[in-house]
Amino acid sequence: MSGEKKRAIYPGSFDPITFGHVDIALRSLKIFDELIISIGDNRNKQPLFSKEQRIAQINEIFSDNEAIRVVSFDGLLVDLARGMNIFTIIRGLRAVSDFEYEFQLSSFNRKMEPRVESFFMMTSEKYFYISSSMVRQVSEMNGDISDFVPPNVLADLKSRQKRS
Ligand code: ADP
Repeated sequence: MSGEKKRAIYPGSFDPITFGHVDIALRSLKIFDELIISIGDNRNKQPLFSKEQRIAQINEIFSDNEAIRVVSFDGLLVDLARGMNIFTIIRGLRAVSDFEYEFQLSSFNRKMEPRVESFFMMTSEKYFYISSSMVRQVSEMNGDISDFVPPNVLADLKSRQKRS
């Protein structure tokens, strides 16, 4: 095992990426050598930013960090895992309400692909209340979201505010 890189996939919609996501990604690197952020669309949500925009935003945020890569993926997470030969999934937990969904999702994934293991990281106290959907809503109403998202995402959100 020694010498082999420990890699994990961090899947999500990241629409947009928030300080909560960034924190989970960076903290996961205490354990993993490489993190693949996988951007997918949640079928129940109409995206605010296109996949290409989200990829560009996340690449810019982690441009100095060679341990983080960004990919876009639309199919089943287990198929991405098989394709990349990475069977470790990172997810973040904020509140009890996240637990039920995450429990079901990880159980489903493991049923479909027994090699998949999900690892859950607890949100930092600083960021527990941040969600992409809340950021989208506050931004839509021209609220200040500078405490919640990195500067490049803030700029992209502001340019949307001006247009609407
Ligand atoms: P999805 O639509 O797949 O839930 P999200 O982009 O909303 O995608 O979230 C991706 C992952 O990041 C999820 O595991 C979610 O719980 C986690 N996450 C989102 N916001 C935070 C936060 N503020 N702190 C910790 N984890 C978070």
